[in-house]
Amino acid sequence: MFIDSHCHLDFPQFENLPRLIDSCLGVGVTDFLVPGTTEESWHRIIQMAKLHPQIRIALGLHPYFLDDKLSLDSCLEQLECHLMEVPTVAVGEIGLDKWSGMPNYSLQYEVLIEQLKLAKKWKLPVIFHSRKSEDDLLKALRIVNFEYGGVVHAFNGSYEQAKRFIDQGFVLGIGGTITYPRAQKARRVLKSLTDQDFVLETDAPDMPLCGHQGQPNSPLRVRDVAQQVSILREQPVGLVAQYTSANLKRVLPNWHRV
Ligand SMILES: [Zn+2]
Repeated sequence: MFIDSHCHLDFPQFENLPRLIDSCLGVGVTDFLVPGTTEESWHRIIQMAKLHPQIRIALGLHPYFLDDKLSLDSCLEQLECHLMEVPTVAVGEIGLDKWSGMPNYSLQYEVLIEQLKLAKKWKLPVIFHSRKSEDDLLKALRIVNFEYGGVVHAFNGSYEQAKRFIDQGFVLGIGGTITYPRAQKARRVLKSLTDQDFVLETDAPDMPLCGHQGQPNSPLRVRDVAQQVSILREQPVGLVAQYTSANLKRVLPNWHRV
């Protein structure tokens, strides 16, 4: 059975969620982790989790969607209220995005640090978004002295960076990137990891798999990610599904409590 550890099922591409979840269950994709992105998203995904027991959620402010007009204090207060009242498995999706089109890196960093402090206060793991910012995220973990681990979603760093996250109690999110033959570095890193080091994800509706460019991605395709992992690591796909699911539940101890 497969878990999609990262999909944005609250995005408008998924207008018929009950039908999508049914299709997923039909092919063995049984559970989903939906991370928050903006303050407005939190209410949506909290409601979604109430309706669908297959959905676990994380709440947080995604660096890509940060608004310069954000009133950070009231937002953090709201986030903390939700963390107290709503069953969540992590604080996320939080992190840093160093893509050239992102102008507000210092604001991203400030928001990241505050959310890491909140996660630490509530003893919750985090879901990291990282684009060309792995070393800065590792630095932030040290500054906050954060020790609850979590998932580095869509990991695309080096083996050395992977090791440093793993040493801090993280697993790496492996998604559609590895389905592209040109993704040599990501494939090499995947092959050098142990079975305990990673989880499967799609990042749907983003990050389409090879052969599906231009279409919205779907949690149905987490099976194709598993299939590619199975080929690259020369392991049966059932085994990959089994250990990646166990890894996710290990780093997110609230998984069974919510
Ligand atoms: Zn995401």
